[in-house]
Amino acid sequence: MSDLRALYQEVIIDHGRRPRNFFPLEQATYRKDGHNPLCGDRLTLYLVENNDVIENISFEGTGCAISMASASLMTEALKGKTVEAAKKIFADFHALVTQGKATDDLGKLAVLAGVIEFPARVKCATLAWHTLQACLQQETGLVSTE
Ligand code: ZN
Repeated sequence: MSDLRALYQEVIIDHGRRPRNFFPLEQATYRKDGHNPLCGDRLTLYLVENNDVIENISFEGTGCAISMASASLMTEALKGKTVEAAKKIFADFHALVTQGKATDDLGKLAVLAGVIEFPARVKCATLAWHTLQACLQQETGLVSTE
């Protein structure tokens, strides 16, 4: 394993074990449940949106290290961003984990690039993001990767 991969692994394990922004937000303007039946990952995403800016974002849930780390890194990456910027980051992140297309602006999210080699894990890595998208598009119902 290269040094970079080892470092990526470390960040994923760290965020998987100690997810950041892991609490419910009472004042959330959006709240959405997401489920990945393939792996058993479940999460609830909370979002405070004001004037097209994501003022606060958090989540709660249970699941594998990849799903928890991805949700944790997502909340860190999107807090304070505009909805437009968040959609762009989602598109870039999706291209990274499904096509291996890396862009500079992904920052720490790049640690999840390795999941492209494990197709079943892509759903773990994108669960939080699909849940986010459903929030932003104000879809109703449970988000499922299946
Ligand atoms: Zn999973």
